[in-house]
Amino acid sequence: MSSVRRFFVEKIGRETALTGEEYSHAKNVLRLGVGDEVVLLDGSGKEYDAVVARAEKGALLCNVVGERPGDKECATPVRLLAGALKGDKTELVVQKATELGVSEIGIFLSRYSSAYMNENKLERLNKVAREAAKQCLRSRAPQISFYGDFKSALESCEGYENKLFACEFAKASDADLSSLAGACALVVGSEGGFSEEEFEQARSLGFAGVTLGKRILRAETAAIAFTSVVMFALGELR
Ligand code: SAM
Repeated sequence: MSSVRRFFVEKIGRETALTGEEYSHAKNVLRLGVGDEVVLLDGSGKEYDAVVARAEKGALLCNVVGERPGDKECATPVRLLAGALKGDKTELVVQKATELGVSEIGIFLSRYSSAYMNENKLERLNKVAREAAKQCLRSRAPQISFYGDFKSALESCEGYENKLFACEFAKASDADLSSLAGACALVVGSEGGFSEEEFEQARSLGFAGVTLGKRILRAETAAIAFTSVVMFALGELR
């Protein structure tokens, strides 16, 4: 694994400032200082090699010395919609889906949801995504969005070629996961699962029902397993 530390920055310039939490981590935890090499990520998918040139109050100023395209992103966009989960299980789903390469994650509430979401939780999920992206050497972190109602979550997948709905009461799959090609949108329910009406609503919006087998998986297991199966089918796990 590359030992050069990676940091997300707002904007790249010939001299780029590391500020906020990224600065605190670099300075106070990693003890980085003048002369240390870093890799800067601005979310464009590019990676920038830089060297810490000077330290100011609350910022490390880095000189960019090179750039290259990141080579760890998925070739095919994959969007995961997952029901909000209790405890820190939503963080687990975000972390693992980020490592598996998803491009975007939407967290939703549905009829049988028993968890809740607020601004702090959403910001925490975006931080988990950034940390997971840095750890697995991605050059981008998936943006985590929240949908307070299920219909707007489903509608956010408009335009995806493969719209796949993991339904615990589906008797068979309406899509062949072994031959996927093109952008994929995946939907997985919360602990309480889905109602028949929600499944019908999804199908009316072009989602195909998918079974993940005869066992009922925990929501976090289903989200991670479903994402893994789709990534494998897309040729991303080789
Ligand atoms: N409350 C539901 C029940 O007791 O039947 C279980 C919901 S399960 C914990 C959470 C989500 O994981 C489901 O809504 C579905 O999206 C997914 N899931 C779990 N097992 C599945 C399976 N065998 N096939 C398809 N999806 C599954």
